[in-house]
Amino acid sequence: MSSISDPSNRAFIALGSNLENPISQVRQAFDELDQLPSSKLLVYSSLYRSAPVGRLDQPDFINAVAKIETRLNPHELLSALLEIERRHGRTRKFPNAPRTLDLDILLYDDLKCHQHDLTLPHPRISQRAFVLQPLMEIAPDCHIPGCNTIAELLAACHKQRVERITA
Ligand code: ADP
Ligand code: MG
Repeated sequence: MSSISDPSNRAFIALGSNLENPISQVRQAFDELDQLPSSKLLVYSSLYRSAPVGRLDQPDFINAVAKIETRLNPHELLSALLEIERRHGRTRKFPNAPRTLDLDILLYDDLKCHQHDLTLPHPRISQRAFVLQPLMEIAPDCHIPGCNTIAELLAACHKQRVERITA
């Protein structure tokens, strides 16, 4: 992992894939997060398998969450993540379409913002077990601005199918 002399902001990134060898898409993305400019990968979760949400006629997803420290501001970070998605051949045919790689910013410090291209915390963080479960693994005490604890949020979506597949 690269070093960073002036550690500043902490961000949590959700990773998801359900096309073209999802496990290796996500594993490769961990490396790419570590190579983001002015950033360092601090910790990443196990991989999880989850049932698709919203559009059910597609393969299961592989999901994970990573924590980074970064001197990129939130928009610079979003652009860098979209660039990684592009390198993985990500296309957007329709909402909730199958994808080679999805990288979402879940949290950026305690920042709250609602802009046309960036909402923080991520708007669906509190309702998705495939995000909450890996977050619980790597940061059980992390605070989501405006929300209950992760354990409480997770309890409320216990019907969603998510299983840990690797340590
Ligand atoms: P989704 O992740 O909801 O399936 P996309 O990956 O296609 O949808 O993202 C669509 C847009 O969502 C991105 O281009 C980005 O501008 C916007 N967006 C808003 N908030 C966030 C966030 N916290 N993290 C990532 N993208 C976000
Ligand atoms: Mg996305």
